[in-house]
Amino acid sequence: QNVDAIQSLTDLRDLYEPACEEAGLTLSLDLPDHLTWPLDPRLFQQAMSNILENAIRHTPSGGRITVQARSASGMLDIRVTDTGSGIPPEHLPFVFDRFYRVDAVRNPGTGTGLGLAIVRSILRLHAGRVDIASAPGQGTTVEMFFGPAPSASGP
Ligand code: ATP
Ligand code: MG
Repeated sequence: QNVDAIQSLTDLRDLYEPACEEAGLTLSLDLPDHLTWPLDPRLFQQAMSNILENAIRHTPSGGRITVQARSASGMLDIRVTDTGSGIPPEHLPFVFDRFYRVDAVRNPGTGTGLGLAIVRSILRLHAGRVDIASAPGQGTTVEMFFGPAPSASGP
């Protein structure tokens, strides 16, 4: 299904705007004028929600979350950057593993550790991939690359 990525990301912004405002965060979009892509719209929203909820949870008041989208080299490239706590480098290789949570002992009950594992599965279904880069105390960038077409079936 050809999805209007601009519309979808604008809808997501409207959905998460109240939570960001409450948390004292600025949520901004950096989008081209037109961008459509063959996506499963529900899985796309699920992936974005998982990433945005992480960013909101781990970014202190006064911070910023930016969503950038573009098409590049035959992929839809979506980058979500936050100015939050970041992830220590020794944990970074494991954050896409199911049930992996950084500092699970000190932060019990904040999540199940499935969010990014689901994002990775969704990107596989779209012949794409997801990368993460993070600097403790500075912030995190999650970058999704959606391929030219999603596979026929669900997850
Ligand atoms: P769930 O998403 O299932 O509610 P979760 O958020 O703990 O639980 P993931 O979304 O998979 O699980 O994230 C794994 C871990 O990576 C988190 O527990 C958190 O420690 C770390 N993490 C993810 N995104 C960020 C971020 N933007 N900033 C800092 N840490 C993050
Ligand atoms: Mg999460």
